Amino acid sequence: MNCKRCGSKAVIRIDYANLTLCAEHFSEWLETRVEKTVKDYGMVAPGDIVAVAVSGGKDSTTLLHVMKKVSERMKFDVVGINIDLGIDRGTKYSSLSTELAVRNFELTGVNYKVVKLKETHGFTIDETKHRVKRPVCSTCGLVKRYVLDEVAKEIGANVLATGHNLNDMAVFVMSGYHTGDLQNLARLRAVSPGENGYIKKIKPLFLTSEKETTTYALVNKIPFLLDSCPNNPKVGGPTSDKLRRMVELTEEEIPGFMLRLVENFERRIRPFFEDLPRFNLGKCKVCGKPTNSDRDICSFCALKIKMNGGEVSNVVSGE
Ligand code: SF4
Ligand code: ZN
Ligand code: ZN
Repeated sequence: MNCKRCGSKAVIRIDYANLTLCAEHFSEWLETRVEKTVKDYGMVAPGDIVAVAVSGGKDSTTLLHVMKKVSERMKFDVVGINIDLGIDRGTKYSSLSTELAVRNFELTGVNYKVVKLKETHGFTIDETKHRVKRPVCSTCGLVKRYVLDEVAKEIGANVLATGHNLNDMAVFVMSGYHTGDLQNLARLRAVSPGENGYIKKIKPLFLTSEKETTTYALVNKIPFLLDSCPNNPKVGGPTSDKLRRMVELTEEEIPGFMLRLVENFERRIRPFFEDLPRFNLGKCKVCGKPTNSDRDICSFCALKIKMNGGEVSNVVSGE
């Protein structure tokens, strides 16, 4: 298998594009593709400060390196954020995640901030496991969304970039169709405009597959965390995991399936959701951020109060 551009040994075959590429031409191809995505979807403008959320895994570390290169051509700034979520369960997952993120911040020379959830908000994700009813990944998602938004703004960024890849997006789309949860589908966006007090959020890798991000990280010798989170649902577990395998098997049979599924969703289907009735947003009495629940305080503040031994009702009534 030889590179279609230079004839040397290829490192990847991209079936849907009928391309085989060597390490150098693949890296160039992926960087150009991400730059085109950033431009086509109006993700970043010159002068913006983009905070890249880095967990230390292959997608977020690849995103950091690629966005640093794209930023030099498009004239915007990149800063890094890592959250130490306090996930251990005998694996040191969070400390390793922070260690890898910091190594990549230093390799790319970006300014960065590491936030320890325990120090800033008084609890860890591990501690929430037996104290709150929602599934741990749902709690973790809530915490990450809130803290990333908070820290990105604190360090002066006006855009927050996350490493969701094409496979993730394809699974979200399929899962939305499967459950018929239109509100969830409507929230699935490659670019979420900064509104209601939230920072603008972008997913520059949403058209880049997991195979591509992994190959990019490997051929560019990017250090990344191979272990997955100990809370990661195991194969054969929840429905979303089965949907992921189904989507990936279909991709093998129909090359380009994931790309068409996600691109068609973003360009042709999601615009119909703009007309869906929106939640009436209230204002959290603790932090002032929007809350779409019928309660007076947002889900994050309610979680934080509970984890710090308080009572939500006392806070709301001002006792
Ligand atoms: Fe958080 Fe779940 Fe991801 Fe672990 S697998 S980092 S708990 S969302
Ligand atoms: Zn080549
Ligand atoms: Zn709040």
